[in-house]
Amino acid sequence: MASSSDRKEIKCSFCGRGKSEVNVLIAGITGHICDNCISQAQSIIKEEFAQKANKQLESSLILQKPDEIKAYLDDYIIGQEDAKRVLSVAVYNHYKRLLQPKKSSAYDEVEIEKSNIIMVGETGTGKTLLAKTIARMLNVPFCIADATILTEAGYVGEDVESILSRLLQAADYDVALAERGIVFIDEIDKIARKSDNASITRDVSGEGVQQALLKLLEGAEVNVPPQGGRKHPEQKLIQINTKNILFICGGAFDGIQRHIERRVKSTTIGYSSIQENVTLDRDNMLKYITPTDLKSFGLIPELIGRFPVLTYLNPLDEKTLRRIITEPKNALIKQYVKLFEMDGVKLSFEKEVLDYIVEKAVLYKLGARGLRSICEAIMTDLMYDLPSRPDVKDFAISLDYAREKFEKSKISQLKVA
Ligand code: ADP
Repeated sequence: MASSSDRKEIKCSFCGRGKSEVNVLIAGITGHICDNCISQAQSIIKEEFAQKANKQLESSLILQKPDEIKAYLDDYIIGQEDAKRVLSVAVYNHYKRLLQPKKSSAYDEVEIEKSNIIMVGETGTGKTLLAKTIARMLNVPFCIADATILTEAGYVGEDVESILSRLLQAADYDVALAERGIVFIDEIDKIARKSDNASITRDVSGEGVQQALLKLLEGAEVNVPPQGGRKHPEQKLIQINTKNILFICGGAFDGIQRHIERRVKSTTIGYSSIQENVTLDRDNMLKYITPTDLKSFGLIPELIGRFPVLTYLNPLDEKTLRRIITEPKNALIKQYVKLFEMDGVKLSFEKEVLDYIVEKAVLYKLGARGLRSICEAIMTDLMYDLPSRPDVKDFAISLDYAREKFEKSKISQLKVA
């Protein structure tokens, strides 16, 4: 039988505390460990893992040169040369900033600022596609948030923090990974200040949201509800630092052309010599957009200041649409060919069919998004029938076939815009 002095000897083999000094003492084969030492060891392991993950992230984030980034974008996005160049440089600088070694000399006092981006262009011209493609290239988490559903905290709608919940979900709840992700905020123009509206009610979905967004953009520690939605008191919040998250915004900014035109006119008056040499592209005034125009449209200066990079997208003309259906790496036509290939059918399209699809997209003003609906209208019957027809080994879509299928589709019954 063990004496009382023997029992006293049971101690934590790590810190030496006796059983009476700790809450729990767990026995191992040759020793003991107390609850204090367990939690200390746990935090050491956590720290080690975090450092390792950080190193892994850095090595996986291969810094591509701007021309390499643009070449990658060229594989997926047709045209939009200016936007692609501006974006390539912004992204290059952003990730260079991330990989910048920690301050080691006076020279390092120069802190590179974040290059958040605003893209202005009609809907369906490739803004989301650009942001998504960049995130895929960099292999960083990416999420899309719609500015129209956001409201100031306390009002019906979503808090701005919900944007980060989505990023966290995209990063599979890996906070370190989410902290280097890309957020695309769509329809940023819809939260413009409604200054002409002299209402006394609060502008909760306009300026209020812009103010709330500032907090995310300036690189702060933000408490994020992991499941999104509202912050409930019982929900455990996750802290995310937004310092290294790249924010890209997109918007159509309907009517901004008028602001641009007015500004361009007023600045060129009095400089007649310049004015003579400048021929304005009146069909695409977005080319001349500056932060001032965003301000007159209703974005607050503080918000504009957080987006140092501003670029525009061109409207898609017939030639570009024609290229979009066949040229990108995952072009629509390539996707159909692949789908049929999986059923052992060699599918081809006559050239006239492709022209026909574009012609209809232009006629019904459906833009690039419409190309897909038109193709679906043409292809659905075939996709339904062919898998049960093992005798058919190849199929060529002719103009007559395409016309017949399209004309009996719902789209063709739309009113021509
Ligand atoms: P936006 O965000 O400007 O409203 P999207 O990027 O969502 O437009 O574009 C809608 C779809 O149209 C894309 O998924 C893509 O298939 C196609 N698309 C639009 N613009 C282009 C482009 N310049 N090159 C290739 N595809 C494009």
